[in-house]
Amino acid sequence: MLPGMDDTIETLKARYAELIAEIRRHDYLYYVEDAPEISDRAYDRLFQELKQIEAHHPALKRSDSPTERIGAPPKDGFVRVRRAQRMYSLDNTYNEDEINEFMARIRTNTSGKDPAYVVEPKLDGASIELTYQQGQLVLAATRGDGAVGEDVTAGIRTIRSLPLGIDEVDDIIVRGEVFINRADLQAVNQERAADGAALFANPRNAASGSLRLLDPSATARRPLRIFLYELVQAPSLPLTHWACLKRLRDLGLPTHRLERRCETPGEVMTAIRSFSAMRQDLPYDVDGVVIKVDALDVRHQLGHTARFPRWAVAYKFESERAQTLVLGITVQVGRTGTLTPVAELKPVELAGTTVSRASLHNEDEIKSRDIRVGDTVFVEKAGDIIPQVVGVIAAETENRGDPFSMPRVCPVCGAPTSRREGQARWQCTNQLACPGQLKASITHFARRAAMDIEHLGPAIVNQLVDKGLVKDPADLFTLTVDAVAGLDRMAEKSATNLIDAIQASRSRTLDRVLNGLGIPLVGEVAAKKLAKRYGSLAEFATQEPDVECDELADIEGIGPKIACSVRDTLADTRFMAVVHKLLDLNIATVTSYDPREMQQTGPLAGASFCVTGKLSQPRQAFHDAIRAAGGDVHTTVKKGTHYLVVGDAVGKAKIERAKKMGTKIIDERELADLINEGGTRDSQG
Ligand code: AMP
Ligand code: ZN
Repeated sequence: MLPGMDDTIETLKARYAELIAEIRRHDYLYYVEDAPEISDRAYDRLFQELKQIEAHHPALKRSDSPTERIGAPPKDGFVRVRRAQRMYSLDNTYNEDEINEFMARIRTNTSGKDPAYVVEPKLDGASIELTYQQGQLVLAATRGDGAVGEDVTAGIRTIRSLPLGIDEVDDIIVRGEVFINRADLQAVNQERAADGAALFANPRNAASGSLRLLDPSATARRPLRIFLYELVQAPSLPLTHWACLKRLRDLGLPTHRLERRCETPGEVMTAIRSFSAMRQDLPYDVDGVVIKVDALDVRHQLGHTARFPRWAVAYKFESERAQTLVLGITVQVGRTGTLTPVAELKPVELAGTTVSRASLHNEDEIKSRDIRVGDTVFVEKAGDIIPQVVGVIAAETENRGDPFSMPRVCPVCGAPTSRREGQARWQCTNQLACPGQLKASITHFARRAAMDIEHLGPAIVNQLVDKGLVKDPADLFTLTVDAVAGLDRMAEKSATNLIDAIQASRSRTLDRVLNGLGIPLVGEVAAKKLAKRYGSLAEFATQEPDVECDELADIEGIGPKIACSVRDTLADTRFMAVVHKLLDLNIATVTSYDPREMQQTGPLAGASFCVTGKLSQPRQAFHDAIRAAGGDVHTTVKKGTHYLVVGDAVGKAKIERAKKMGTKIIDERELADLINEGGTRDSQG
């Protein structure tokens, strides 16, 4: 039996409830407050302990357990739900006169005196209504036509910032917006462009599209977020919206926290102007503000029209869109060799900057929209996103260029280009030997979210590559002050600064190194997970490239696509040459974790395991049990793997390999014995 069984069921139950509450609190700190109190590793331990209890005592399992976020199987449609209180749309205003008219209309209904207002951001996503009963999230429904929406509970449960349970026994109904951060949308679209899938035009489409995926595990992979902004029903509902927003926060529900309470129309205008000025600084898109009467009794008295409440109005920000001419279509080479067509535009003012280029994503995208030189396009910009072409008006035939087609040789290095079966993306086949790819790789390696090397801007990268000083990212560490002092406009002082900055980045954590190396599909989040899994660059470098994708996909949160990409990368000799070069230069000897945290305790501490074959439970369950007992999990048998746990139908090669490596072969029952008795490592050597 596993540890814990001798506890009485009561203490176990209490511990279980405590774990759920703790994890909920840490999720809130991490996802909402952005201020985690514990390390990822400590969080994982709580999670593993919870999973263990559930695995051994399924009867204790609660539906609001964080392990149940992706519980539901895929569906073949959505159930329609009729709601008690209609969800209205919002009337729109576009200028200050219209807002003044709105407030004047209200004033005539409140005996000539202006009521207080709350001004808050208008989030650009999909609206949603949530019902909690006896503290449990029981229903999430879209707005639909207002009276009838669709049940999207399974998808909503996957949003990590949203608690599945709250401390309130009475029924609570809340409304809010599901949305996606700008940067996340860009990443999702990049992946879709690579897959040749249609791009999401805006965060709203991305949010509602993701919610309406029939398989909740697919929704879980979309980085959706939620903010609640209306408390519709609750025991002893507060008297004001302002107080309702506070109640939402007190319940642990995520809110935008940007609301402003305004006593006068003048304050309302000031608040609107300040939102308009700050919108670029928010990580998500807001398409305007909502102006709401604060007192709920005044709201009630004002009522609503057939479509809108009379107590609220939206003010839409000016759309940041401009119209211009396509002067040319050029092709850019990215760090993985992806060729991206770019529209060269007649310069146009857009949201305070001059725009002269816009990404056209891929060949199919241009073909399906038939964008050509001479056409007029609409460009839009949101925050710091690269401008997007959102519409096209074809020019007269005689003024149009030829239909676009991808060049068959790389515009930078002249190597042949290729397009893999089933993929939308064309590539230069020359890898780091292509100066275009090399420059983009180095910029990627040095950027803030990766190695964070200051003073290494594009002008310097271009020269380093063009002068042959750097042939891969690892070469940066061999640069000397003398070598870079010879570059254009590089004074002695800046040369020293640059070399210092490069050397300072030697101590970056593994996740940053992996992120910087640019494994396809691996961004900041996946890099953190991989770093946690491998612990060091040396460990990463000794992984077997012949592992099955699904073994890597066991790593929590790493999907099969990313797993396969990692495997392909491990088999990529040119990529691995850079990794080995970094190791030889002693880069990335630091892990992302406090080494004290790495010291595991438990019956399996110090022992490493690989699990294979058909077992009585999914492989992940064994990995969890091993880790919970302090053991280490290897996804392949390699030098230093102590035990190979085998189930049925194990390939002969695996057994042979284990024998060669001196790994002891055990079965499930023997593993259980080790966990219970504490492992004696007799397989060593
Ligand atoms: P519209 O879709 O243009 O009719 O605008 C109404 C929608 O704005 C509502 O259904 C909500 O989904 C959305 N919305 C976004 N932010 C807020 C907010 N802070 N308060 C109320 N509604 C909001
Ligand atoms: Zn090239």
